[in-house]
Amino acid sequence: MAVTEPTWSPASWRALPAGQQPAWPDAAALAAVRERLRGMPPLVFAGEARKLLHGLGEVAEGRALLLQAGDCVESFREVSPIPIREKLKVLLQMSAVLTFGASLPVVKVGRVAGQFAKPRSADTEIVDGVELPSFRGHTVHSDEADAAARVPDPERIVQGYYQAASTLNLLRAYTKGGFADITQVHTWNKEFVASSSAGQRYEQLADEIGRALAFMQACGIDLAAERSLHEVDVWTSHEGLLLDYEEPLTRKDSLTGDWYACSAHMLWIGERTRELDGAHVEFFSGVHNPIGVKLGPAATADEVVALCERLNPRRLPGRLTLIARMGADRVRELLPPLLRAVRESGIPVVWACDPMHANVFRTASGVKTRRFDDVMREIEGFFAAHRAVGTWPGGVHLEITGEDVTECLGGAEAVLEEQLDHRYETLCDPRLNARQSLDLAFRVAELMRG
Ligand code: PEP
Ligand code: MN
Repeated sequence: MAVTEPTWSPASWRALPAGQQPAWPDAAALAAVRERLRGMPPLVFAGEARKLLHGLGEVAEGRALLLQAGDCVESFREVSPIPIREKLKVLLQMSAVLTFGASLPVVKVGRVAGQFAKPRSADTEIVDGVELPSFRGHTVHSDEADAAARVPDPERIVQGYYQAASTLNLLRAYTKGGFADITQVHTWNKEFVASSSAGQRYEQLADEIGRALAFMQACGIDLAAERSLHEVDVWTSHEGLLLDYEEPLTRKDSLTGDWYACSAHMLWIGERTRELDGAHVEFFSGVHNPIGVKLGPAATADEVVALCERLNPRRLPGRLTLIARMGADRVRELLPPLLRAVRESGIPVVWACDPMHANVFRTASGVKTRRFDDVMREIEGFFAAHRAVGTWPGGVHLEITGEDVTECLGGAEAVLEEQLDHRYETLCDPRLNARQSLDLAFRVAELMRG
């Protein structure tokens, strides 16, 4: 049954102000790109989005956890399978730690296969002493420090589509083709992680999982027949920022007649584009995917409840994920009133903690970074707020990579300020490296048990 409002269409957002859209220099070229995308296959299917909706519904009702993680922004230069495989390994490791530690299913969602466009607080940035238009992601322009290279080029949207397709194809192969089989749990521990304290702890956990499986086998359970041990679902997500990309990939499901954004399983609305009367909220009100909304420290209870009413009028558990990013110092004060107001509204939501985006700062030498301790402090505050109010801390939303980068400070094998330039590779925000990510998963599992 179609439930979309009669005035809604994939293009109805066009009548409203759309924040954070690139200044495309040529409207005709952009329209031609939209037309081409309209003729291309969907990247994901409505039935998959519904399966994720069901999984998130379990999170909303306190029976599962959400782990959403990946790059701040994907790069057109990372086309090889290796960084994708490494990212997946960390996600599988973190998920094993959380599933085993909390004895709960973990819904795994990557910021992957389409996370290409960035909102920016300022229109310009200084690179090597030169003022340039701020970098808005590879589907918009090149990150080169050159004014001509920063002119938005709609052809890049098409390139983003193809890279998303190729990334998603690889993810499907890895997750369904044996790589994510639970019997491979040891092989996900990577060399530079294995030697760390979190890596060693992971080895022990992998041994325990092995023993638990052997025990089940010995009890007569046919493990080979248990599909859920041999395949996993890793869903894709990105910020649904570029509406000229989302609109042509929005398709009507032949089974239900409902519209789905077929660029990813889940999409979220960023902190900078969540105005109730803005284009993004209009667009996402009409698609039936699970969606998220980022909530920063300025979000008011009335605003949040209005977003819930607008985006989840049918009160479907799993439809809406509220991703709070309040800051380590303020989460304990700012989150409880929002938790109470949403509970009183009776609208079911998943509450996720993004402990990254309100804890960014620049070092004295100007490097954008985050402290592992602040990230953990915000997660602890998020759990404390839920405990105090009696709501379910549904999960975490993180910026991570599978590589041994030095972008965030601290962790058990601490990255020091003077080491930041060793491997600082992100195109936008600093990510936790694989060791820091695994360390974090163990600590979150402890909070779940605590
Ligand atoms: C992001 O997730 O990379 C981002 C820009 O987040 P926010 O909208 O919360 O600032
Ligand atoms: Mn970011």
